Amino acid sequence: MSAVLTPISLHADAAEIERMHRLFDMQRNAFAAAPYPDLAARKAKLRRLIDALRRYQNEIVAAVNDDFGVRAGAETKLVEVMGPILEARHALSHMRSWMKPRRRSTEMLFLTNSAWVEYQPKGVVGIIGTWNFPLYLTIGPLIAALAAGNRAMVKVSEFTPRTTALLRTMLSGCFAEDEVAVFGGAVEAAQAFNALPFNHLVFTGSPRVGREVMRAAADNLTPVTLELGGKSPAIVGPDADLRDAALRIAHGKAFNAGQICVAPDYALVPRGSSNEFAAAVREAFGKLYPSVGGNPEYTSIVTERHAARLRQLLDDARAKGATLLSCGDVARTGRQMALTVVTGVNDRMQLMQEEIFGPILPVLEYDRLDDAMALVRRGDRPLSLYAFGLSPAEQRRVLRETHAGGVTLNDWGWHVFQHDLPFGGIGNSGMGTYHGEEGFRELSHAKSVFKRQRWFPIGLFYPPYGNLVQRL
Ligand code: NAD
Repeated sequence: MSAVLTPISLHADAAEIERMHRLFDMQRNAFAAAPYPDLAARKAKLRRLIDALRRYQNEIVAAVNDDFGVRAGAETKLVEVMGPILEARHALSHMRSWMKPRRRSTEMLFLTNSAWVEYQPKGVVGIIGTWNFPLYLTIGPLIAALAAGNRAMVKVSEFTPRTTALLRTMLSGCFAEDEVAVFGGAVEAAQAFNALPFNHLVFTGSPRVGREVMRAAADNLTPVTLELGGKSPAIVGPDADLRDAALRIAHGKAFNAGQICVAPDYALVPRGSSNEFAAAVREAFGKLYPSVGGNPEYTSIVTERHAARLRQLLDDARAKGATLLSCGDVARTGRQMALTVVTGVNDRMQLMQEEIFGPILPVLEYDRLDDAMALVRRGDRPLSLYAFGLSPAEQRRVLRETHAGGVTLNDWGWHVFQHDLPFGGIGNSGMGTYHGEEGFRELSHAKSVFKRQRWFPIGLFYPPYGNLVQRL
C-alpha cells in the first residue's frame, strides 16, 4: 500500500502549537466522556496498530532510510516493526490479568472488610520520542498507554521528518485524533508540548533535555517517565573468550551505527589485553561489514552535525595521546562512519566524559574485577551494563554491586527485546519503566479502595473513646 504523506512543518510553527492545544482539549474531553475503555476496546486498538505496522512496513523502511541517509532495512524491520508488534502481542496476551483489581489484606482491626487496588487509566498521556528509533521509541510507550486505557499525544523528533509524516498518516488511519495524535516540530514545539498539563509524560532522549522536561512537567505536577542515556559499560572478564566478546561488542557498536541508547559505550578488558581485544573487534567488524561506504546494511550517522561531533571526539582523543584503530574503509568521511577502536584512553578525553552514541569504542584496562566495578560506579548510573565470561558468582557480584537500568550477560542489548521485562534507567539514565506489565502499571493509576461492611462497628473508633482505643 502506498502511503500519502501529510507534510509537517519542521519549524516550530504556530499552527502546530495551536493544534497541540486544540487536540489536548479534545482528548481530555473525550477521555472524560469515556473514562474506562473495556478490555475489548483496548484490544481492538492494539490489533489496529499491529495491522498498520504490518501494512506499512515497507514504507517505514523507506522513510527511516530517507531520514538517515542509509538505515539498514533489516534493522528497521527488526526494531521499528517487529519490536512494537511483539510488544503489542505481549500486551494482548496479558492485559486481561493486568486489568484485574488486586485484592489486598486489611489490618487485623478491620477484618471482615475488604481492600483492593484498581488500575485506572490516567487520562491523556504525552509521549516524546527521539530520532534514533523514531517508531520503536514512540509506539512502544503508545502500546503501554493504550493497554492502560489512555489517550495519547505523540511528539516525534525534528530529525526524522519523513518518518514523522508517515507515522502521522499511519496512526490517523487507525485512530481518531481524540484517541492518538502525532506532532512534529522542533524545540519550540517540543517545549510547548511538554508544557501541556498531561496526566503522564513519557520522554525519551538525553539527560540534559530530560531535566528540562521534568522541570516543565513539575509546573503541572505531571508525573514523568524519563528514558535517558549514559555510558553503558561492557566488562570483559579475565576468562572470557576475547574474540566472542569482541564480536558481540562490535555488533552492539555497529547496530544503527552505535546510535542506540543501550549500545556498549566503552569496554573494560583485563590488563594487557587491549591490543588483542582491539584487533579482534576490528576483525569482527570487518566480517560483519566488508565495506562501509555505500553498504546498505550499514546505517549512516543521522546528520552532518552529529557526524562532526563524533569526528571531534576522535580528534580530541588523538590530541590527548590515544591510539585510534579504524575498522573500515571510510572512517573519517561521509556519514557512514566505520567503527573506530580507541586505546590508551584517559579521563581527560571527551569520549570518556559524555555518551558517545556512535561507532567509537574506547577500551580501558583493569587489574581486578573490583577495579572494573569501581570504574563503573565512579560514573553516572548507566542505562545498561554488559558482562562477558564471568563465573556465576562473579556475575552475581556485578549484578549486586553495580547499578544499571538493565543488564545482558554474555551479549549486549537483548534484555530490551524481552517484552516481559521492564525497560528503564536509573539515576542519570532515567526513571520509571515501560514494556510489559510495568508499562501498563506505569501508565495506570493504582487506586486504593477500602470497603467497609455496613454493619462493621466503626463507631468503636469514634469519640468518646472507649476501652478498645484506649488499650491500643
Ligand atoms: P535530545 O534529548 O536532544 O532530544 C530528544 C527529543 O526531545 C527530540 O525529539 C527533541 O525534539 C526533543 N526536545 C528537544 N528539546 C526539548 C525540550 N526543551 N523539551 C522537550 N523536548 C525537547 O536527545 P537526542 O540527542 O535526540 O537523542 C540521544 C539521547 O537519547 C541519548 O542520550 C540516548 O541515550 C537517549 N536515548 C534514550 C533511549 C531510552 O530508551 N532510554 C532511547 C533512545 C535514545
